[in-house]
Amino acid sequence: MPSFICVTCGTQFAPCDKAPERCPICDEPRQFLPPSGQAWTTLEALRRGHCNAFREHEPNLIGIGTEPVFAIGQRALLLMTEQGNILWDCISLLDAATIAIVKGLGGLTGIAISHPHYYSSMVEWAHAFDAPIHLHAADRQWVMRNDPTIKFWEGDSLSLGEGVTLIRCGGHFAGGTVLHWAQGGTGRGALLSGDIVQVIPDRKFVTFMRSYPNMIPLSAPAVERIGARLEPYAFEVIHGAWFDRTIPQHGKQIVTRSIARYLAAVRGDGSAELR
Ligand SMILES: [Zn+2]
Repeated sequence: MPSFICVTCGTQFAPCDKAPERCPICDEPRQFLPPSGQAWTTLEALRRGHCNAFREHEPNLIGIGTEPVFAIGQRALLLMTEQGNILWDCISLLDAATIAIVKGLGGLTGIAISHPHYYSSMVEWAHAFDAPIHLHAADRQWVMRNDPTIKFWEGDSLSLGEGVTLIRCGGHFAGGTVLHWAQGGTGRGALLSGDIVQVIPDRKFVTFMRSYPNMIPLSAPAVERIGARLEPYAFEVIHGAWFDRTIPQHGKQIVTRSIARYLAAVRGDGSAELR
């Protein structure tokens, strides 16, 4: 039986004879359906027209993204540590070349995903590399393909090994998670931020939204909460969700001033010029 994949968000559903009626991920206010309507594909079809590209962002951190762009277009990150490799976030396309390359680099000891828009084909990746998937329990309802490899975690943080910590920030999704890598950023710390802390095109600021495509902002308390959760962690570099969304330095200060700008925008009377 095929496992259908939503063309708009890239989520793979449980194996089924026929395509689902609708995609609950796209059929809610944070996502959307294009005017052409709901469409489905499969991993087999995706493999015929797409392949994965690889880019080293810094030593021991390799981005993996699909070309041409598919669905939301995020790239995953392969984080290599002495205790094993973690796949941070995920993409829909897993092909033979990707399996060979990742196995050649030591395989995976775990998969962690920031939020449901990037759950994609996570179960395929978990099976190919015999690795557990760590998802925050607050987003359990958005899992479209259940599997014994999925491990739900609760609370505000989870250690995946020395210097690798999942931090639940909430915001965009209730279980919205970022990964702090203490040894990243040449030892000054790196934040793998998904789009829970969104690196924006100018790369001088980040932002925070409930919906990016539909431009629904977060409340001031939700953004303050994100700041409070990140407060204990030092980081110089921020790796966002796309190949070109990396902030190479001053990451922590950029998050701090971005939160201040955001709060000034939503709490102000609109008369101040925001920079
Ligand atoms: Zn969808």
